[in-house]
Amino acid sequence: MAANFSSDSVSTVDTFANVSHSKCTGCQLTQKSFDIILNDEDRLLQFLYDHDVLKETRQCDQCDKPMNLRDSTFYCNKRTFTKNKNKKRVSVQCRFQISQNYRTWFENARIPRSKVCNLVSMWVLLRPPRIDIMALELNICKKTCIDWCSFLREVCAHYVLRTRDGKLGGPGKVVEIDEAKIGRSKYNRGRRIEGSWIFGGIERGTKKCFLCPVASRDAVTLLTLIRENIEPGTTIISDCWKAYSRLSNEDFQHFTVNHSYNFVDPETNAHTQNIERLWREVRSSVPRYGNRKHHLHGHLAEFIFRYKNPDYVNRIHEIFIAIGKLYDGSPLPAAEDDSASDSDVDSSVE
Ligand SMILES: [Zn+2]
Ligand SMILES: [Zn+2]
Repeated sequence: MAANFSSDSVSTVDTFANVSHSKCTGCQLTQKSFDIILNDEDRLLQFLYDHDVLKETRQCDQCDKPMNLRDSTFYCNKRTFTKNKNKKRVSVQCRFQISQNYRTWFENARIPRSKVCNLVSMWVLLRPPRIDIMALELNICKKTCIDWCSFLREVCAHYVLRTRDGKLGGPGKVVEIDEAKIGRSKYNRGRRIEGSWIFGGIERGTKKCFLCPVASRDAVTLLTLIRENIEPGTTIISDCWKAYSRLSNEDFQHFTVNHSYNFVDPETNAHTQNIERLWREVRSSVPRYGNRKHHLHGHLAEFIFRYKNPDYVNRIHEIFIAIGKLYDGSPLPAAEDDSASDSDVDSSVE
């Protein structure tokens, strides 16, 4: 998998840098105050402009003149003069028009804007399993709800790439690394437990972290990710998984904890309690059942979005800003292969 959901790996910020036009720099909205906005069409529209989810103005695609906005459609009424076949001077009106929703978060939405925004705010507040509650509260079908939740995870995936803030660690810093299996367990004996491996690391003190789904836990895979996500000179603490045995040959200090015997190494005081706490948080956020492997990326991205915005009153602001940055009016990049099968999601799962 090419995508790497480390929140803090090599800075590629420039690639994703968008010049921000949004006017709101942080509105700290509670659900209750957002409800008031949701129930007032004008205020909701202003909120969407302020977070750059919708545009208030647009230039005509044909004559590049400012267009008029009426009932969520931009119209161009620009008159130009030209000569007809009898060489008579006539005025011609540009009649170009385009929906205000074109290439925005609301394009092709079959439910009203306010309902979409309500769905976003509920999604921000609730963790899976939430489809039943959302579908009931919003009076929409589960399939619609599942689709929008999946779009929101794409928004998070883009957010994660956009907000990367460099490698973890450095001389004098400690990073705990570990692998964990996330996903459904099967109780049939003799069969392997299904699920996906995630490799991750967390920097002590700052709690900066990276999380990457991995197809295999071999040394080549893990060492590549370590080099990509951790600065040379860092002190790395891990369990005794054999893939890590080459770490001390690299430019790292390496300590291990043998979890079969103890959780804090009595000699070196090494422990991996921070990364274990992170796994507990990941496991409680990523649905265990019916979670298809190709959804794992999205769920991890959602986890990182929440992890980076621990205070829930920032989340409504941050998610709408993130929506505006992904659906910014430019053509969307072609979908990746594994999203092709998203339409056949089981009825009750995200
Ligand atoms: Zn805001
Ligand atoms: Zn025009």
